[in-house]
This record gives sequence, structure tokens and C-alpha cells, in this order.
Amino acid sequence: MCSDSKFGTEVLGIDDYSLSLAKKYISSGELVAFPTETVYGLGANATDGAAIKKIFAAKGRPQDNPLIVHLHKDYDVDKLVEVEYDYVYKLREKFLPGPLTMVYKSKGIVSKVATCGLETVGIRIPRSEAAQKFLRAVDMPIAAPSANVSKHTSPVTAAHVFDDLSGKIPLILDGGKCDGGIESTVLDVTHEVPVILRSGLITCEMIKEAVGECEYSDGSDKKVRSPGTKYAHYMPRSETALYRRDDIKGAQEAYDEAVKSGKRAYFMCDEEIGKLLHGNILNLGKTAEEIASNLYYRLLEGEKIADIIIAFDVETGSDIDTGIMNRLEKACKRAD
Ligand code: AMP
Ligand code: MG
Repeated sequence: MCSDSKFGTEVLGIDDYSLSLAKKYISSGELVAFPTETVYGLGANATDGAAIKKIFAAKGRPQDNPLIVHLHKDYDVDKLVEVEYDYVYKLREKFLPGPLTMVYKSKGIVSKVATCGLETVGIRIPRSEAAQKFLRAVDMPIAAPSANVSKHTSPVTAAHVFDDLSGKIPLILDGGKCDGGIESTVLDVTHEVPVILRSGLITCEMIKEAVGECEYSDGSDKKVRSPGTKYAHYMPRSETALYRRDDIKGAQEAYDEAVKSGKRAYFMCDEEIGKLLHGNILNLGKTAEEIASNLYYRLLEGEKIADIIIAFDVETGSDIDTGIMNRLEKACKRAD
């Protein structure tokens, strides 16, 4: 065990024993990693500032990037937050439980360590049965970012979590591969019109359809509204190069050049682009849902076998493309 290892991290399937262990750790201020329908989370009691500080330390996360609070389906969310606009009820009915985090005015029960001193708090009710089992077993609000070292690609299997956090946390609950694949949509509901702070599988179009209006921010208006969107993120440990879809020739030349110089090169692209290339391929699939689901998995697979990952922009025509491209742009270095 290396010298900074504090724990012999256990990886356990979800059953009565592991859930009681999870409850014991969370109640005593320790961290537990758990699966959701998006990515694995690294959880602590959201009302315990000292426990939450351990999340920031384990991840090396910047101190001004607030954490999302996770609740089980029957938890009374209104104990924690104030609802200022009626559209919130429609959104809850339509999308929860599911991959949508809503940022509300906080009632101050969630620790300011989790919210980084903000008056608002992001709340998420995951759909995944495994996440629900964990949240129900501990029966308290759980502050949880993705269970990876800061800046690295988010984990979608228990093995990915182990690779990043082994020795730093006592327990990882293993619920298999997360199928959503990218983090929840973060939606600010403290204004008359809901504003997307981070795009995800619940899209602007879907929200507009449910409540009539939705603005799209994602930090692209330069005014950083969601602190997390300003940081480098999602990066695999291999070198990367991101190409435009019409630059097949440039990407193939870069690939051939890399191979000639002795590098292990892989393309990472959807099926359509893959048909036009010659070489090793990390296949993202065809539909936007498949591509989102495969993205982090392929990046984390790629970093083990590739010196360079040559990736392509994704354009399926779905509104989900926005969330995928937001991750790809941060994970990979633009080639031009
Ligand atoms: P992660 O924990 O890596 O999934 O990131 C959580 C995202 O939600 C980050 O982009 C945070 O900045 C954002 N977030 C969490 N809480 C708030 C909040 N109270 N206000 C604005 N953004 C938030
Ligand atoms: Mg994260």
C-alpha cells in the first residue's frame, strides 16, 4: 500500500450487508462511492461539513465548485429548499426521478461547505435503482460529485472509481456500468425562466416542451453561472486531438504520422465516421443516447491502450449533441 493510502478500499455489490456498511460509513463522516444512472458519485452526509471537506480533498476539487445533493424518492425535498416558481412542480412531475439537477434557493440545512458558501443548492433525485437503494439505506441528503480525481474523466464503472480513488475511501458500491454516461443536466430554477447551467440528457427542448420556456447558458454567455463549467474537465490520461467531421483527411494523416513515430494511436468516433477511417477505432455507436453512454467508457478504455486518441465532433441531429460536445470539447484538445 502506498504511504498516502488511508483505506483498504472495498468494492462490494449492492446487498443488505454492503448497504449497512455504507450507512455506517456515511453516519460516521466517511465517504462512499455509489452508482447512478449517469456516472458514479462520491457521497458524504450533506449536513456534515467535515465529511464534505473529505470529498474535496479526495478529488483535489477546487474549493469554489459546489456539490450536488442527492435524495431518495420519498425524501421531502421542500425541507431543504424554497420553490419560487410553479413551473418547478411540472418539471418534478415530468422528469424526476431522473438525470435533472435543479438549483434552488437553500433553506440552509445543507452545509455551506457543499454549496461553497452559495445561497443556492443543486438537488438531484436519481432514477437508478442502485442509487435509490443507497440513498434509502442512509436516509439522509448526500452531497456527491462524480467519483473521480478532479479534471479526470468521470467514472462509469466501479473499476474506474477504484483506479482513481483506491486507498482514499473505504467503500465503493458496485452497480455495474452506468448507462446514461454523462452527468445530469443542471437547471437553475431561481428565475422566472429556467436556465440550463450544464447540458445533459434532459435537454432544453424537453424542458421547453414541459414548461414553455427554457434558456440555455452552459457558461457559453461568458458569465460563469455554474462555477464548475469554467474548469478543465473529463480529460483522459492519453494525448488527445479533436477533429471536425469534415476533416477526415487531416485526422487520418495525424493518425498515420503517430503510428509512424511509434505511438499507439486510436480514433474515437461514431459509426458513420468510423467507416471512412483506416486504423484502430474506439467506437462510440450511432445514436446520441448510445454515444453519451459510451463516451467516458471509451475515453477510460482508450487511456489504457492508446498514446493518442484522435476524436471527432459528434453531430447526430439530436438536442443531446450539445451535452456530448460540451464534454468532448473539455476532454480533448482541439486539433486546429
Ligand atoms: P459535478 O459535481 O462534477 O457533477 O458538478 C456539479 C455541477 O453542478 C458543477 O458544474 C457545479 O458548478 C454545479 N452546481 C452545483 N451546485 C450549484 C449551485 N448551487 N449553483 C450553480 N451551480 C451549481
Ligand atoms: Mg465531475
